Amino acid sequence: MIRQLTTPYNYTQQEKTCINTAGNNWGSKSNCIKALKTSLNAHFDTEQNEKCCYCGLLYDRTGRGEIEHIAPKGAGLYPQFSYTPNNLAKVCQLCNSSSMKHDYDSVRTINQNYDQIDFKIVHPYLDNHNYHYRFRYGLLNVTISVNNDSDKARESIRLFELASEKRTRARAVQRNQERLENLYNIPTAIKERIKSVISRN
Ligand SMILES: [Zn+2]
Repeated sequence: MIRQLTTPYNYTQQEKTCINTAGNNWGSKSNCIKALKTSLNAHFDTEQNEKCCYCGLLYDRTGRGEIEHIAPKGAGLYPQFSYTPNNLAKVCQLCNSSSMKHDYDSVRTINQNYDQIDFKIVHPYLDNHNYHYRFRYGLLNVTISVNNDSDKARESIRLFELASEKRTRARAVQRNQERLENLYNIPTAIKERIKSVISRN
């Protein structure tokens, strides 16, 4: 129900040059950085199906999506990873709110190599979500619990209140909606099948 992300953004050479010129500064007002952020937003909306990288709920269920730095970029934290592809994803406003991820330092042990950082939470790209989380699917509730005694899952569930009644219900509503949409897609699939059979003759 919370999907591991597999496709980080891939910068063009021009975008890499732009980032270097901006001094790796996320707050840069240069036009090419503005354009890059537009591309990042579009990429994540497609890759994540407009679902939050932490709670798996649609952005518009809890607010619009925002670009998130998984290792926070703030002063004294990890600005060196401001544009690192594996450090960027989209998050819902609730997960990014001041009571949740906003000022939270997600890093337990830092490393110069981003993929070697030890995180306190389940990482959207680097962690196998099925190992850390267990879901139970019901019509009215989709519950989440810690799998394999995972400390990261325990911390993510606490930080993002993933086991709250509100979110447990929201997951069920979203799942039911998706199952309905899939049902409506069946005629389209049949149409495609008929087309492919006809084209063989
Ligand atoms: Zn969220």
